[in-house]
Amino acid sequence: MKRDYYEVLGINKNASSNEIKSAYRKLALKYHPDKNPGNKEAEERFKEMNEAYEVLSDSQKRQQYDTFGHDSMNNNGGPFQESYTQYSGDFSNVGDIFGDIFGDIFGGKRSNENSKNRGEDLRYDLEVSYLDAMNGAEISIDIPRKDVCSICHGTGSKDGSSSKQCPKCKGKGQVRYSQGFFLLNQECPQCKGRGNVIDKPCHECRGEGTVRKRKTVTVRIPAGVNEGTSLKVSGSGNAGSNGCPAGDLYVVIHMKHAAGFKRDGDDLYTEISISFPQAAMGVECDVPALNENEHVKVKIPSATQPGTILRVREQGFPKLGRKSRGDLYVKVNISVPRSMNDAQKRALFEYAKSMGEISKSSQFQSDSLFKKIFK
Ligand SMILES: [Zn+2]
Ligand SMILES: [Zn+2]
Repeated sequence: MKRDYYEVLGINKNASSNEIKSAYRKLALKYHPDKNPGNKEAEERFKEMNEAYEVLSDSQKRQQYDTFGHDSMNNNGGPFQESYTQYSGDFSNVGDIFGDIFGDIFGGKRSNENSKNRGEDLRYDLEVSYLDAMNGAEISIDIPRKDVCSICHGTGSKDGSSSKQCPKCKGKGQVRYSQGFFLLNQECPQCKGRGNVIDKPCHECRGEGTVRKRKTVTVRIPAGVNEGTSLKVSGSGNAGSNGCPAGDLYVVIHMKHAAGFKRDGDDLYTEISISFPQAAMGVECDVPALNENEHVKVKIPSATQPGTILRVREQGFPKLGRKSRGDLYVKVNISVPRSMNDAQKRALFEYAKSMGEISKSSQFQSDSLFKKIFK
């Protein structure tokens, strides 16, 4: 059952058109979907009050409603269906209907002239090697962007004549329209959000003031960047129109994997294989660094067990924007010889014997050399 429209707006039957408008504004502030995201009840109320206002603000519809009630409003879809269809077809009327109601209420947060004409920010995803992240680098990238039109110098005008206020959005750059029962803002299709239009547009940029061009930008990659680091290159986004500032370029870093290495935060992980005697007696090793020509000296203590992870301080990635670095972690693997000559085997048997691992019934006796030695 539909509520009475006067009740919905909280006014009496004799309310003047100003009273209706003022009641509607008060309720709109309270129940506007922008202010109540996801609130179903507010959505229902907003829908209901819009319907009531639509009828009561129109003297003809109001009279019809006063005489015949709700039923008269719903013939052939009723006046609402008609008006909403109209909104989606032609946004220009909506500005007039809702503009004077909402213009000063919700218009306050609209961006100012300058930020409206400022060029858009751009994003570029860049893969960086571990080595470049370790040492820092300068990388040139080629980005498609809007550049200032060289024919009209960004004015968008063919003959230098000035632009005039856009008649569609009245200079706001946005039009308000209704989708279902929601009021939405949309960039003005006529002026593309600029708020003004040009009488004789430049043939090169068709009045935009900007043209699409590729630009080579050299990005300084500071040492220590990591997955997701965003670098701002000021002024390298899209050019602004009418001499307004360009947007910024944001270069988002992604790490290229390096064989044999892993990164965790500012720490670097790698592995090394040493022999059993080296592990048993200790050794100083050259661990390959990210740069193929470099090594990191690592002291492996005696009695190091397989899988041991050694930490080498300050040999990881630089900490972005700081002087310190992460650490290098080296996992030690013990390698087993794939083949040995007789002398080596003999030495190993002797070693095993000294460890009490060999007897006449030993598991080694399948080896022919063993049989020769231990007959
Ligand atoms: Zn131009
Ligand atoms: Zn416009």
